[in-house]
Amino acid sequence: GMPGTPAPVLAPRRKTHQIHVGKVGVGSDYPVSVQSMTTTLTADVNTTLQQIAELTAAGCDIVRVACPSQDDADALPQIAQHSQIPVIADIHFQPKYVFAAIEAGCAAVRVNPGNIRKFDDQVKEIAQAAKDHGTSIRIGVNAGSLDKRLLEKYGKATPEALVESAAWEASLFEEHGFHDFKISVKHNDPVVMVRAYELLAERGDWPLHLGVTEAGPAFQGTIKSATAFGALLSQGIGDTIRVSLSAPPVEEVKVGIQILQSLNLRPRKLEIVSCPSCGRAQVDVYKLADEVTAGLEGMTVPLRVAVMGCVVNGPGEAREADLGVASGNGKGQIFVKGEVVKTVPESAIVETLIEEAMRIAEEMGEP
Ligand code: SF4
Repeated sequence: GMPGTPAPVLAPRRKTHQIHVGKVGVGSDYPVSVQSMTTTLTADVNTTLQQIAELTAAGCDIVRVACPSQDDADALPQIAQHSQIPVIADIHFQPKYVFAAIEAGCAAVRVNPGNIRKFDDQVKEIAQAAKDHGTSIRIGVNAGSLDKRLLEKYGKATPEALVESAAWEASLFEEHGFHDFKISVKHNDPVVMVRAYELLAERGDWPLHLGVTEAGPAFQGTIKSATAFGALLSQGIGDTIRVSLSAPPVEEVKVGIQILQSLNLRPRKLEIVSCPSCGRAQVDVYKLADEVTAGLEGMTVPLRVAVMGCVVNGPGEAREADLGVASGNGKGQIFVKGEVVKTVPESAIVETLIEEAMRIAEEMGEP
């Protein structure tokens, strides 16, 4: 777009209360952030920090680590201290780990006060400790662990049931004057999930963490998450997102960032405009698009690269892009800012595009 003109978005953000997860602000005053969760044994400090470093490099804003045992709780001080991004400890049931995580310097704790209240009512002390340390909380309501009472009342995990549970959990902190929390109401069905967040958004000004839980393997999970997050973010609902995939967490981060970029909620970086190919194509468009994507991964300047199978739409798309190729007769016409700068044999298309991209990036000030 034009320099200085903000890219258009589908809706203004829903106004929320603002909280902080360490250095990352969460709420309508701040950009939508991307989260993921480590898959390592938290107690294994080095391996966990290594995975956090990979997530950070991929653009993750906030990372969550599970804390199911004392060994994991003991690892939290080192992890919190050495992670480059804020760390959230994920805790179920045990209040002692919540206090440990707060003491350890974790930026936030994911815990449901309803659970704590059931076993050992220390909600008030948790609210106080969190306040004293500047630690925020996520209340994470999940269809799979919905309160029995609500399951009986609603028959199953309906949007209304999820929201009633969330509002009740929120009230357990609010009655102690604690408001530094965000809420999630996750379900594996995007339709139920979207409805639940819509209802929750009407009910209070809490900042919201979006997630489709147990979304599945990479392909299905990506589509379920993109569909559900798109439906909500296009209404301005959602302040931080976590894509759940049965795949390495770096993949979750890439998908999350791509969803935000697609909606102009985050500046677009590398964008590949490639055609689907058709009977006119005289080169292998899929292979070309994959190789160009792989070759340019990690570009930090905004760059549109058109990869087109023939000259029908090639020159048009290439003109709109910073860089492009239109192929034909085993050759590729390389476009820079809409002008043909050279024609190369098919085997040299990828390397030429990468070369030109690097040159453009340098001109744009990439270090
Ligand atoms: Fe087909 Fe050419 Fe369009 Fe690609 S650019 S889809 S090859 S007409």
